[in-house]
Amino acid sequence: MGSIVGDKPHVVCIPFPAQGHVNPFMQLAKLLHSKGFYITFVNTEFNQNRLIRSKGSDAVKDMPRFRFETIPDGVPPSDPNATQSVTELLYYTKKHSVVPLRDLILRLNSTTSHEKGVPPVSCIISDGIMCFAIKVARELGLPVTQFWTASTCGFLAYLQFVELVKRDIFPLKDEKNISNGYLNTPLEWIPGMKQMRMKDMPNFVRSTDKDDIAFNRWLEEAQDNLKADGILFNTFYEFEHQVLDEISSFYPNIYCVGPLFTLCKTLPQDEEVTTRGSSLWKENTECLTWLDKQNPNSVIYVNFGSIAVMTAQDLKEFAWGLANSGHPFLWILRGDVVMGKSAILPDGFIENTKDRGLIVSWCPQDKVLAHASVGAFLTHSGWNSTVEGICGGVPMICWPFFAEQQVNCRYACTTWGVGLEIDSNVKSEQVEGLVREMMEGEEGKKMREMALEWKKKSEIAGAKGGSSFKDFHRFVQDLLQLAD
Ligand code: UDP
Repeated sequence: MGSIVGDKPHVVCIPFPAQGHVNPFMQLAKLLHSKGFYITFVNTEFNQNRLIRSKGSDAVKDMPRFRFETIPDGVPPSDPNATQSVTELLYYTKKHSVVPLRDLILRLNSTTSHEKGVPPVSCIISDGIMCFAIKVARELGLPVTQFWTASTCGFLAYLQFVELVKRDIFPLKDEKNISNGYLNTPLEWIPGMKQMRMKDMPNFVRSTDKDDIAFNRWLEEAQDNLKADGILFNTFYEFEHQVLDEISSFYPNIYCVGPLFTLCKTLPQDEEVTTRGSSLWKENTECLTWLDKQNPNSVIYVNFGSIAVMTAQDLKEFAWGLANSGHPFLWILRGDVVMGKSAILPDGFIENTKDRGLIVSWCPQDKVLAHASVGAFLTHSGWNSTVEGICGGVPMICWPFFAEQQVNCRYACTTWGVGLEIDSNVKSEQVEGLVREMMEGEEGKKMREMALEWKKKSEIAGAKGGSSFKDFHRFVQDLLQLAD
């Protein structure tokens, strides 16, 4: 992509402090940088230190027109686990990061900064769950665009929370509603989403308390996005057109610029900015060498992302399901994936699978999913994982954990035709059966074909002249006008 000439508008990017947000924000920042924008990338202090630990201090070194700043996340020392809980982090950042963010923008806009070559801030791009930045932008008279890093179907689902209350569907009337089939109630009235049931809504609806903190925090946060000048989505029109059409009917200023991952492939791959990583964990790359030795489409890749946790029993069920399926697997097991404990695999599992299984704690997932040996993806249905799976043409076995992952799973299993769902109460027999179906069965074959179709469509959307490519350039033009 060529760069713009003349002035260099200055964009301040403010991702929510979690891996699934920092990654797409970094991709967006790189793309804007390639168009000549001056970028300030704002990490939380906690995450900046993690980035330095995983990638070395060069990862946050200033480059021409691309610099890093930090703000605190507001997590008190008494609640250290909050850095792994999105709902808690949402609360703390909203409460404590407003003043540091305002101070940061004022500092960037000071004469001292300008004398050091930092241009005046032209626009803020803040995370869809950091809406406090809209308030700061309004106070300082700056334009602000939100970047909703999760799925658009997830966003539309959150926007229904108000309606769930109006229709007296939320709160649930009885704890038993969570288990007695009530969650299968269809929600056919949602415009733009025809196949939804209560169980496919973000899991925060599963409460009998009208004041439920998580439900109300997410309700408010989703609605607040509509106060911004525009919203960016990391999706492509062809993939989510029903929900995108619905959203643009009441909020027209949206941009579909995804998969950003695909758009980034158009950038020069040998430049320092392009090659800069954003992984908060140290990546194991030996798994790529291991994949090189496997047969095409033969490996089931298992990864539950950066936040999901499970019980020790769930871990055991997954382990025996994978072992009994007889297929090779690459399993990424974060040290903290089991609630409150370290992950201990069942006795006999390692001996049983040592000739066809590899377990590591973190990997370069985009590269793994693009590898020809990967035949299926057992995933928690996080949005980045879903998109990376689609870009790799890999069908999915979905075990959604929380937030809008339930919605993503529903879409993967219905609208997109690329997924099979595992019960939340996971059993090894089901894991084994679904892995076999996906790797050997007719349904699995059809899903692989569908995934490859979506892969092609995503590449077309991100290539010159494609829907996302065009929307990204429309966004650039709008930013330039706003910055005038
Ligand atoms: N990821 C990775 N290596 C891993 C696990 C995850 O690079 O071993 C990346 C993955 O590629 C994705 C992000 O972390 O970009 C996870 O985001 P997602 O939305 O899928 O799930 P979350 O972690 O937010 O639940």
